[in-house]
Amino acid sequence: MSLLDRHRAVMPTWMPVYYGDDALEIVAGSGRRVTDAAGRSYLDFFGGVLTTMVGYDIAEISDAVRAQVGTGVAHTSTLYLIRQQVELAEKIARVSGIPDARVFFTNSGTEANESALLFATNLRRSNQILAIKNGYHGRTFATMAVTGHRSWSSSSLSPLTVHWLASADRLRGRMAGLSDSDLIDAAVDDLREVLATVSAGDVAGLIAEPIQGVGGFVAGPDGLLGAYRKVLAEHGILLIADEVQTGWGRTGDHFWGHQAHGVTPDLITFAKGIGNGFALGGVVGRAEVMNAVPAISFSTFGGNPVSAAAGNAVLDYVLSHDLQGNAKRVGAVLLDGLRALSYDILGEVRGRGLMIGLEFTRPGTGEPDPVATLRVFDLCRAGGLLVGKGGLYGNVIRIGPPLTLTEEEAREGLAILADAIATADAESRIS
Ligand code: PMP
Repeated sequence: MSLLDRHRAVMPTWMPVYYGDDALEIVAGSGRRVTDAAGRSYLDFFGGVLTTMVGYDIAEISDAVRAQVGTGVAHTSTLYLIRQQVELAEKIARVSGIPDARVFFTNSGTEANESALLFATNLRRSNQILAIKNGYHGRTFATMAVTGHRSWSSSSLSPLTVHWLASADRLRGRMAGLSDSDLIDAAVDDLREVLATVSAGDVAGLIAEPIQGVGGFVAGPDGLLGAYRKVLAEHGILLIADEVQTGWGRTGDHFWGHQAHGVTPDLITFAKGIGNGFALGGVVGRAEVMNAVPAISFSTFGGNPVSAAAGNAVLDYVLSHDLQGNAKRVGAVLLDGLRALSYDILGEVRGRGLMIGLEFTRPGTGEPDPVATLRVFDLCRAGGLLVGKGGLYGNVIRIGPPLTLTEEEAREGLAILADAIATADAESRIS
């Protein structure tokens, strides 16, 4: 029995696995390249899901983890002092830009958002939350409740009362085609309209991704969160930035995605690549909000010594190698190269730093084209390049490589992408 058959026999049916019957088993990695069980090598433009922040088998990270495991104490529990955890919390508090910040570590992004929602709802004594359509925040009841993406929201049983804001999508819906300033005005009007229909002072918080990740790398104009914030402040509503995909310099211009919006959130959540594959997430926020939990709250594994050792090594590496600057430089090479492509099915190239989305649409109508998207996705893999898929309509290729990607690797991947898009474009004309 193949590993895929065994996977299918033992895992629940709804677990997504890329590449269908040709599912991929990665068995080794180095730099920005991985090798599968059949010995094929791939350049990795997705890093899991932006999970491999600095690349594969990076000595500084592996050595730090090995040293921690080598002490013989992988973990006891977070009831004891953990030097690695305190050091990482100090660093994250420092980069958060939040005065007197507190940090709570979790094992995942879902749990980070669940915790942030817990803190905000406790402080405000309200279960009302504003969320953005097409956002993704996790798979627990509260985080699913604020997830505005039907494919990823598998329960309607919500512990929160959620009020929905329109996504700042420039291509579809009520914001389509607007200039940046008109879009911000429309989004603020939308927020005011929603607040007018509820008791605004009772709303606990707004949760938002600076760039919607699972939703297909959809980003509002710079300043949007700042404009929201002015309205929120009138009512004491907290701002929670979900930086699970956008933090740690990924967007090139800033360490955090929300910094492009001229705003400091009350709570910031992080996870994914911060442990370069080790399970680690958390929340950093204002002490008043973070402390607003009336009973003891505890995570056995959140910020354990091995994950925290990885977290320290990753953050040190990102800062000392200026990976934010690299994301900006190499991301620009990729973006320029992709924007220079002209194919009927390539509806939009968008992005920031090393977070780039390609939107595929039907020529003429601009309707989402998930079939062409899937074809590009598969052709990339056949050409030796791993990319991601996403978007509300399954019509976005997502590019989120390790932040150490070199210019040469960017050009190599670009050539594979260009070939794949050219082939899919030609086929779409025949069919
Ligand atoms: N928030 C965002 C923005 C995410 O992209 C994800 C994961 N796709 C999560 C939260 C949930 O993180 P995890 O899968 O680690 O629970």
